[in-house]
Amino acid sequence: MLDSAKRILKKYYGYDSFRRGQEKIIKSILQGRDTFAIMPTGAGKSICYQIPALLLEGLTLVISPLISLMKDQVDGLRSIGMPATFINSSIAYNEVQDRIYRARTGEVKLLYIAPERLENEGFRQLLGNLEISLVAVDEAHCVSQWGHDFRPSYRSIAHLIGELSIRPIVSAFTATATEGVKEDVVDLLSLKSSNIYVTGFNRENLYFSVERGVNKRDYITKYIENNPEEVGIIYAATRKEVDSLYESLKQRGYKVGKYHAGMGLEERKESQEDFIYDNINIIVATNAFGMGIDKSNVRYVIHNNIPKNMEAYYQEAGRAGRDGEPSECILLYAPQDILLQKFMIEQSLLSPERQKNEYKRLQKVVDYCHTPKCIRKYILEYFGEEDTSHECGNCSTCKDDRELEDITIEAQKIFSCIYRMKERFGTTLVAQVLRGSKNKRVREFGFDNLSTYGIMKEYSEKEIKDIVNLLIAEGYIGLTEDQYPVIKLKPMAVSVLKGKERVFQKVQKKKEKEKTISDNSLFEILRRLRKEISNRENVPPYIIFADSTLREMSKYYPQDYDSILNIKGVGEAKLKRYGDEFLDVIRRYVEENDVKLVDINNGSLNKKSKEERISSHIITYNMYKEGKSLKEISKERDIKQVTVNNHIIRCAEEGLDVDLDEFIPLKYEPLIIETIKKIGDERLKPIKEELPKEIDYLAIKAVLCKYKNRIS
Ligand code: ADP
Ligand code: ZN
Repeated sequence: MLDSAKRILKKYYGYDSFRRGQEKIIKSILQGRDTFAIMPTGAGKSICYQIPALLLEGLTLVISPLISLMKDQVDGLRSIGMPATFINSSIAYNEVQDRIYRARTGEVKLLYIAPERLENEGFRQLLGNLEISLVAVDEAHCVSQWGHDFRPSYRSIAHLIGELSIRPIVSAFTATATEGVKEDVVDLLSLKSSNIYVTGFNRENLYFSVERGVNKRDYITKYIENNPEEVGIIYAATRKEVDSLYESLKQRGYKVGKYHAGMGLEERKESQEDFIYDNINIIVATNAFGMGIDKSNVRYVIHNNIPKNMEAYYQEAGRAGRDGEPSECILLYAPQDILLQKFMIEQSLLSPERQKNEYKRLQKVVDYCHTPKCIRKYILEYFGEEDTSHECGNCSTCKDDRELEDITIEAQKIFSCIYRMKERFGTTLVAQVLRGSKNKRVREFGFDNLSTYGIMKEYSEKEIKDIVNLLIAEGYIGLTEDQYPVIKLKPMAVSVLKGKERVFQKVQKKKEKEKTISDNSLFEILRRLRKEISNRENVPPYIIFADSTLREMSKYYPQDYDSILNIKGVGEAKLKRYGDEFLDVIRRYVEENDVKLVDINNGSLNKKSKEERISSHIITYNMYKEGKSLKEISKERDIKQVTVNNHIIRCAEEGLDVDLDEFIPLKYEPLIIETIKKIGDERLKPIKEELPKEIDYLAIKAVLCKYKNRIS
């Protein structure tokens, strides 16, 4: 059973092995058990129900709340050859009938539907006539009021299951692991003695970092300056902040869009599509953005403000790097943000008990921002993972190579100014006094007579404010929770003033920040080709191939069908559809740049695929020994002629019994030898071009093999 699952993984998706957890989950479903899988965003949930859908007898019903993306999801599946379709409110009645019909005949194996549909009894009856083997509930936490996206219509799922004459296998998937949600999912979806799988929450390719007390705007601008082409999401807490960040990036000429609930539906949809279709590479958004965005090449997620809890953070940050490539998740922390989050909890309609719970969850985020230990460890422990004994080596704590700069003097000046101003004013006025501003308010209060007036003249107001913010973030001073927050000294500041403690600031060593990822020019060329195809076929670029797939291509330069099938993410359907176009571009690039080819056959790609290849050419060999012609083998195995040809040459090279003369036209043999002597045997193409048309590559390869080491 699992073997067939693996074959599907390779054939349709082009992947060689399952990721952690996937195999167990698929096995559990195939054994007919209700299954509940909790995996972090980007870990690969969908494959866990899509593969069983192909292997089970009847239909798989997928319930997904992401109506706006259903079409893209299904298009993605169809592009790899999966028989899928969907029904939501955008589909006309006739078409619904037609799709249901195709589901009944078995032509469609995966039917995606919106949960709202299930509230309609008539529709449930329609479904009742189908042979449903598996129900897959995506984003299953939506059934729970404890989750962050409660959807009342999810409650109808249990009705449907109860009404079906044969109870299907029920599977549920979510990235939310809190106890309340877990219990609700099991209860409210009426899962039968379900198997719960919580896979590791770790996402190794993600770099996590917390930046405390930095100037956020400067930080973001600098980051994007260093990575202008990379795809990224910037989350901000309020619409106002989204608008202003968006404007500032736009003015700098970046390809940026924005998204928040204050925008019209159309406008939001447009932004989302621009992002999905690579028309823009940066999106600034509130947390309203992102549910179900499975764009796989997001290279960074920056949080301009702290989120409301760790679940929300990990889900939003987890949108980076779904393709498994190195990506960054950066949280910019300022204590002021806590006030905003507290305000939102206060304003919410939650019961006092739930509010208290929310405050607690918020505190966990604040702790995350301050923990001195490995922050990945903090996250994993938060999600209840036990085996986190090691430091990760890939977070801002583990990788901290910044230098400490002593800012005790500056801190003392600031504290003493706050003290002399009687701890009754905010950051701006304190900074103005320190700078020696002649501003009206400063004079009105007589602050120009203080001994601290103008003692930080050499700094700009902004620089002083940045230091103040750092001192707040590090807990030396605090802000009151008022509309106009006032700075107060904390005990730690007093020890600094008394000279008992020193204050340090971490600064980046003087070196240009490396670009996150550097790509060669072939990668850019392939990206352009992908965009062309995307425009032509009107499908998002990532559905054609993921970045990671293009990156492998630009690393291994596959030259033929066989080797391109070894690239991660190239399955058979994609090969048929796009293989030639991509191969052409790669071959041209290799020719023009005189690239030395990496020998894919000798296992530069991963080991498994090499083993698979070995068995593949041996299969060919056995058929050849049965007396079949290469053409017949190609037809029977449904693989390309060139692949079979390469198999047979390889068998000969490996010393198996192959009659090479069969492939060499006798009268041309001397000419082929001559030509090889003249041109050399480094590349086949020039040899082929030199020879008469009727001599094929197989003949040349056969000659090379026959006279190995003897022609030169
Ligand atoms: P989730 O729903 O858990 O957030 P997805 O199902 O969208 O994640 O998968 C995230 C990405 O990982 C997709 O691009 C998917 O194709 C890829 N992926 C899933 N399983 C594997 C695997 N076994 N090998 C390589 N890539 C995989
Ligand atoms: Zn770490």
